[in-house]
Amino acid sequence: MLTKSKKSDAFIELEDRYGAHNYHPLPVVLSRGEGVFVWDVEGRKYYDFLSAYSAVNQGHCHPRIVQAVKDQAEMLTLTSRAFYSDKLGAYEEYLSNYFGFEKVLPMNTGAEGVETAIKICRKWGYEKKGIANGDALILVCGENFHGRTTTIISFSSDPDAKGHFGPYTPGFISIKYNDLDALEQVLLEKGKQVAGFLVEPIQGEAGVNVPDSDFLQGAAALCSEHQVLFIADEIQTGIARTGSLLAVCGDCTCQGNCEQQKTYVRPDILILGKALSGGAYPVSAVLADNYIMDVIHPGQHGSTFGGNPMACHIAQTALEVVRDEKLAQNARKLGIRFRERMQVLVNKSDLVNKVRGKGLLNAVLINDTPESSTAWDICVALSKNGLLAKPTHGNIIRFAPPLVMTDEQLEDCCDIIESTILHFKKA
Ligand SMILES: *Cc1c(COP(=O)(O)O)cnc(C)c1O
Repeated sequence: MLTKSKKSDAFIELEDRYGAHNYHPLPVVLSRGEGVFVWDVEGRKYYDFLSAYSAVNQGHCHPRIVQAVKDQAEMLTLTSRAFYSDKLGAYEEYLSNYFGFEKVLPMNTGAEGVETAIKICRKWGYEKKGIANGDALILVCGENFHGRTTTIISFSSDPDAKGHFGPYTPGFISIKYNDLDALEQVLLEKGKQVAGFLVEPIQGEAGVNVPDSDFLQGAAALCSEHQVLFIADEIQTGIARTGSLLAVCGDCTCQGNCEQQKTYVRPDILILGKALSGGAYPVSAVLADNYIMDVIHPGQHGSTFGGNPMACHIAQTALEVVRDEKLAQNARKLGIRFRERMQVLVNKSDLVNKVRGKGLLNAVLINDTPESSTAWDICVALSKNGLLAKPTHGNIIRFAPPLVMTDEQLEDCCDIIESTILHFKKA
């Protein structure tokens, strides 16, 4: 490894000494971002191919979003929900119309959004479906990632996420992802007790697992047959990342009027986070129609910061940017080209086995064991060549740049990835 400069070392050492070791970052210390680029404290420029786990779809420090932050910060930042604000209702209307649902429940982080969806789903199960109190089940998928709270990790299959954090919250059954027979089997056995099916339309953290083209549609049909709420966690896949407004939109290219599209699988509950604010503020939301959302009454759920004026104004602006700049269309177009270029590389190099993904949520599978450091070492080499990406699940590298990338920038990035891999020597 090249020697790092003293400046970076000092920042890394500070985090290491005073921060809990709950992450293992690449040794790069960033201090500025603009569009698809970030700069480190030495002034070196990088393409960002992680986009803060798809929170920065609109690009770093998007001028319109930054302006929204400034404007609202000077007006009013937080009221709590003890009072009304002049921003919340308008934002809720905008968000509902944008995604085609009747109501919104605003929260802050993705995990809170998932927790909220679980609570709404269970309550709906008892009060509308008639499940006996305490018996409600929610189906989830193996290798899921839905966040880090104690309830959410209770149904994780990742030993690191779960180990020694018990006792675990009961009421979840895990089935194999992308397996309609498994879903049908549990529904036939326990359908009367099942309130919801919580699923990622593409499993991002698991390594960009794209299900078969009939999986989501089939799962939604089974759910509706058994009166089970289909809950889509689109925290990572949503908001143009996969080349459509939502991953459940399938192959449609619409920007927010998905009802018209044949391939649209409409969730009963939709969870959004990450890019909802373009990375400028923690904003998440749960969307559903009245017959579901109206099970929640005053005092039964909430958050001090949820729906605050900053969040509302920033998120609305971030969604306007997605629509005005046609980011879904751009992600779709660039994604096709990216996988084309990576496929050429797969054919050329023994180091990479496969490329997969949708839109600009893609992964390259490295030809080594998940325990090996090869993917990590390649990411370090990529960073030296000016491109930042991170391994997921050991031997998989996720590539997810901001969606504001140009055609020329994408070619440049593919050149960097190709030459890095072709010149890479295993340790
Ligand atoms: C990131 C993510 C979450 C959790 O969001 P946080 O804001 O980190 O709590 C949940 N689900 C999916 C699919 C995610 O990618």
